[in-house]
Amino acid sequence: MSIHIHALDTYQARDSIIHRFDARVKLALAALFIVTTALTPDGAWLAYALLAGLALAAVATSRLGMGFVQRRAAMALPFALAALTVVFSTPGRTLLAAPVLRWELSITDGGLIRFISILLKSWLSVQVAVVLTASTRFPALLQAMRSLRLPKILVAIAGFTYRYIFVIGDEALRMMRARAARSGAVDRQSGGGVLWRARVTGRMAGSLFLRSIERSERIYDAMLSRGYDGEIRSLRPTAPRPLAPPLPRPPAPPPLAPCIKIHKLSFVYHHNDRQALQDVSLSIRPGEKIALVGPNGAGKSTLLLHLNGILRGKGAVRVMGQEVADTNLARIRALVGLVFQDPDDQLFSPTVFDDVAFGPLYGGLPEDEVRQRVAWALAQVGLEGYAKRVSHHLSLGEKKRAAIATVLSMQPEILALDEPTAGLDPRTRRRLIELLQKLPQTMLAATHDLRLVAEVFPRTIILNGGRVAADGPTGELLANAQLLQAHGLE
Ligand code: ADP
Repeated sequence: MSIHIHALDTYQARDSIIHRFDARVKLALAALFIVTTALTPDGAWLAYALLAGLALAAVATSRLGMGFVQRRAAMALPFALAALTVVFSTPGRTLLAAPVLRWELSITDGGLIRFISILLKSWLSVQVAVVLTASTRFPALLQAMRSLRLPKILVAIAGFTYRYIFVIGDEALRMMRARAARSGAVDRQSGGGVLWRARVTGRMAGSLFLRSIERSERIYDAMLSRGYDGEIRSLRPTAPRPLAPPLPRPPAPPPLAPCIKIHKLSFVYHHNDRQALQDVSLSIRPGEKIALVGPNGAGKSTLLLHLNGILRGKGAVRVMGQEVADTNLARIRALVGLVFQDPDDQLFSPTVFDDVAFGPLYGGLPEDEVRQRVAWALAQVGLEGYAKRVSHHLSLGEKKRAAIATVLSMQPEILALDEPTAGLDPRTRRRLIELLQKLPQTMLAATHDLRLVAEVFPRTIILNGGRVAADGPTGELLANAQLLQAHGLE
């Protein structure tokens, strides 16, 4: 089951002139309106009436409906009310004075005019902002911000906010449902008491905050593994030239040299002293498809994060003959495509195009090639025509495939996948299995799905307590019930 928040979705499809306007023109006009409104002096009632006429005309032309725009605009009211203090703090003729606790508070005429002006100005600006965001798809708005040369960091922040407000909103919704499911009002104390609710809400906000921080760490890892270097880059999602030939894969390595060699790798998470990996040694030949299984906490994810240097433990990791070291991280990350368990960590851009283009763009490829690679990678995972889609509108199966496309576009030699089938329904899972069977890359996948293991991976490594417990042909290991049971796999 998936729960989605759509109230946050700002765009409202309508057939209006304003909807058809170029996003750059709309953005520039809206900004001009808001700045003009902000600069209009307090108490300039005639000017306000003119501005209100303009705003209402925009609302009417947009066909969004007065009710809709006013309801959205009302959401900003609490923020404007924060200006209430100016009523008391602005100098002027005293209209009313009253002692409140230890203070003598007085309302001045200047203060009142100021406050009403602030309320009016906010109301006008917010209406125009509502019309802008409800009549323009967000990716187009971002593109407009870019072409109007707004600072890149501002555009990036807007993009992240838009992307993750849904993820965090969905998380909050799930927590609220879980709370509601457990709050069956047995008695007033436990079920619906105000204090009880306040306490639970406080705890929920705290936990939501922690989850957001953890998520931001995972997103940052996902960005690093696709070559992020601290600079913000982006491309406009236009179609590649139609006659672009399919890109040749980079030349294959000599067949017998191991493409991953790990020697005595140990790793401790320092903030909780957890020994996640201990003396792990293994060797993977080019083209091998290997399942990494083991109970929760066995160290599977930790091992995958070592393959492209996101984590660095004691011991040695060599990828295609190169030792993972500070000096060659960019090259290693282009060789190893890391697909995270939760596609919401991997798809951090506003559109599928931006996400799939991210790796090649940070790999410094020319624009044309980036576009070709995006089209090619999307075709590989069966998501042709998804480039302009907004990530949070995809189904989980589509998100998983899009996440794989984000690394395929870097044409890696090795795919490292964390729980590729987790949470998928049978049909979507089947599609993903077929995709994994078809992909030619060397593959290492952490999973609990033993049927997936049997179908896709000829070799299996069992990890338990951070150590390699078994390593051999999948058929043999899966037939050994005792071995499986000993490592919590059934
Ligand atoms: P698996 O993927 O097999 O479930 P992990 O690699 O996630 O296992 O975890 C291995 C061990 O490291 C576990 O004991 C886990 O609690 C710990 N661990 C994993 N991630 C972190 C982290 N970010 N900080 C601290 N400890 C962690």
